[in-house]
Amino acid sequence: MSYVITPEEQPALPIEGSDDLFPVRRIYCVGRNYRAHAIEMGSDPDRDPPFFFMKPADAIVQNGATIPYPPKTNNFHHEIELVAAIGKGGANIPEKSALDHVWGYGVGIDLTRRDLQMAAREIGRPWDMGKGFDKSAPCTALKPVSVVGHPDTTDAAIWIKVNGEIKQQSTLDLHIWNVAETIAYLSELVELAPGDLIYMGTPDGVGPVAAGETMEGHIDGVGDITIKVA
Ligand code: MN
Repeated sequence: MSYVITPEEQPALPIEGSDDLFPVRRIYCVGRNYRAHAIEMGSDPDRDPPFFFMKPADAIVQNGATIPYPPKTNNFHHEIELVAAIGKGGANIPEKSALDHVWGYGVGIDLTRRDLQMAAREIGRPWDMGKGFDKSAPCTALKPVSVVGHPDTTDAAIWIKVNGEIKQQSTLDLHIWNVAETIAYLSELVELAPGDLIYMGTPDGVGPVAAGETMEGHIDGVGDITIKVA
């Protein structure tokens, strides 16, 4: 038996210090997971349990890439985020064992067509075209937990510069919902599987990136990402 069309290549991320690859299955993203960012987006961070949106697996962009300015937007935003990579799946995962399900971590950018997202939000429509578009999910090579530990149990710095100027700067301990809580909560909604990525949410200071500009992001101990917009 064979496929009637040629299947696309399996989306994957490199592993730091290895020739092996991490196959990407699904990309989950946590919305409003920093208090100051929730406030800048016009919501009350105390009232909101975590919520999730998704990007397609083939939205992954490799570190160092140049991406096109995406179509149908005039307000293309950067959101620097910790990315947790799931190595062991499960449903209804208890918080106390949730970190055992993490294979490793990377530094990601949740690229956003903010104008499309806000227009959808206004009228109660899905965010997909604001969030889940082509090349909307840059991520670094992953580092295994044995090397990187669990960075959001620390006050590791997270920041992003656009053309050399700091735009977002915070620490990972300020996640409203940490990785363990997020995995526990998300795994009650859907069964997680090896290859799933969770973009953990962005600090305040989101803003536009223009054609010709370069984003440089960093998380202490996890890595550095550089993405240029053509
Ligand atoms: Mn985000």
